[in-house]
Amino acid sequence: MSQPRQNIVVMKFGGTSVEDATAILRTASIVASRLRKNLNPIVVVSAMSRVTDTLLAAAAAAGRNDREEALKISDALRTRHLNTAAELVKDPDRLTSLQLNIHHDFDTLDDLLRGISAVGELTPRTSDNVVSFGERLSSVLVTAAFAQQSISSTHVDARTVILTDNHYGKAAPDETTIEVALTEQVLPLVDRGRVPVMGGFIGSCNGITTTLGRGGSDYTAAIVGGALHAGAIEIWTDVNGIMTTDPRIVPEALRVKTISFEEAAELAYFGAKVLHPATILPAVQKNIPVFVLNSRNADNEGTMITATPPPCASPFKSIAAKKKLTIIDIVASRMLLAHGFLAAVFAIFDKHGCAIDMVSTSEISVSVTVDSKEALPAICADLGQIADVKYEGNKALICLVGEDIRGQSGISGQVFSSIAHVNVRMISQGASEINMSFMVNEEDVDEALRSLHKKFFANPDPTIFDIEARVAAMDNV
Ligand code: ADP
Ligand code: ASP
Ligand code: MG
Repeated sequence: MSQPRQNIVVMKFGGTSVEDATAILRTASIVASRLRKNLNPIVVVSAMSRVTDTLLAAAAAAGRNDREEALKISDALRTRHLNTAAELVKDPDRLTSLQLNIHHDFDTLDDLLRGISAVGELTPRTSDNVVSFGERLSSVLVTAAFAQQSISSTHVDARTVILTDNHYGKAAPDETTIEVALTEQVLPLVDRGRVPVMGGFIGSCNGITTTLGRGGSDYTAAIVGGALHAGAIEIWTDVNGIMTTDPRIVPEALRVKTISFEEAAELAYFGAKVLHPATILPAVQKNIPVFVLNSRNADNEGTMITATPPPCASPFKSIAAKKKLTIIDIVASRMLLAHGFLAAVFAIFDKHGCAIDMVSTSEISVSVTVDSKEALPAICADLGQIADVKYEGNKALICLVGEDIRGQSGISGQVFSSIAHVNVRMISQGASEINMSFMVNEEDVDEALRSLHKKFFANPDPTIFDIEARVAAMDNV
């Protein structure tokens, strides 16, 4: 295994951290603070906030032959990027070159959108190409803004280093070739004292652009950190860290000061948007600490994700929720108790590349939850060959995570009595023993989160949770 390079810190800035000139300047000053500590930052940026969704809307418009709408959307994005560039870059030569770069990217994008609307068909491969412009543009913009702030930055086209398979829309990185590419292209920059800046989320397969899946910039940061065996990975976002639940739903949510790799992975997988589910893996493999930090409140210490957090007196660290799920009930009418029934069921999901979130079984039936809508009709048709199938959408999964659930007797009773007013379907206590999950109707999620949060975070353990923030908020009332 490669030697750790303690001085390298991979810093990932999400969409809100590069949303406009003010945010990009904040980001530059955060990077400068790491340079002052003699660290070597490698910066990974997301597209400016909402740009990915907007590009997907442009691609969809083109796909339904609405060329005008697609180009209108692209025009508005062009203006936003050009305006931000002009606000940030004062040096005339640097600004001219940046503007040329932005125009060139948008001209290419417009050609692509025209091509899509001419054929009226959007393939996953072209969709990845369209959506990649978000990170391509933001990374070029941020590199120039850093240079303007006297940070010696060099742009790296992520597609030359994040090499993946050709699973468009959710491509898998190839660790070995990535390590070689990063060592050849990025390490020499670091060694020369430069700050490499690259887009997250995007990669390539044999020269064709791919993406790692929504929220994938976190994953890029972890891949880079893992491959180069960095000293730390920092995920800069718009909240103070991993919170006890989504603060948009429960404003009283508290920052979790430290959390284990396993707990964070479980939370990310079960819906806590603050981290991409795959983020943790490359970090775990090399035991690299991951910090989740707030770019709008850079002095806050955030959340540290590590292999060995201190013990926690509360059973749970955080509660995640994942919406837009479907429950599929599969009843083995004709193959009652038949040997191999479950294997046949899972083989069908596998064939359609559809991940299952949760499973519960009875003697003659199995219920599973999935989040893929597109594959549903085909999956149900295949399942219909071996069983009776019913499915119900608009479901949500709530997942309580904590290493200290282990050995707590009566914990399920406390969970379900606190949400006695909510209709619960399918319950599972994960084999990992660090999560408890169940399904509810989508419209009940917010209320259930509020009730659970009130119940389990009324007296939080101050070594693990930032209760000072709660006290300060009360003082301000
Ligand atoms: P970025 O653009 O920086 O990647 P995201 O929007 O992907 O940011 O993730 C940050 C958001 O995740 C927060 O604004 C918050 O609403 C949401 N979130 C959901 N669950 C949690 C949680 N447990 N802790 C913190 N944030 C959470
Ligand atoms: N821009 C991409 C998205 O919105 C990737 C990311 O931000 O992590 O999904
Ligand atoms: Mg994100």
